[in-house]
Amino acid sequence: MLTCRSCGKLIDRTGIAGAAPALCDECRPRRVAPQPPFPVGTRFGRYTLVEYTPSLPGLARARFRCDCGRIKELQVSNVAQRGAHDCGDRVRHPRLGGRG
Ligand SMILES: [Zn+2]
Ligand SMILES: [Zn+2]
Repeated sequence: MLTCRSCGKLIDRTGIAGAAPALCDECRPRRVAPQPPFPVGTRFGRYTLVEYTPSLPGLARARFRCDCGRIKELQVSNVAQRGAHDCGDRVRHPRLGGRG
């Protein structure tokens, strides 16, 4: 009986041809869906990433909740890179002597 080299689980070889596998199905490398680079809950300035929305691969979009309560749907990379870190409402978020 074979055991997985990684987790020690017994490997069910039923119906598998070819070289004996050293890793079980769970430990064997496989294609995984690309993970979003920022988990839900990540904060960008006043924005908190609330949930990912359906989008094209490589153009991850998500809903962000501003500290003032507004929800905006934005492209994640834009928020992460450009620093659009609040909803832009200058009444709710007056600039406090900062840069423009
Ligand atoms: Zn394993
Ligand atoms: Zn806001």
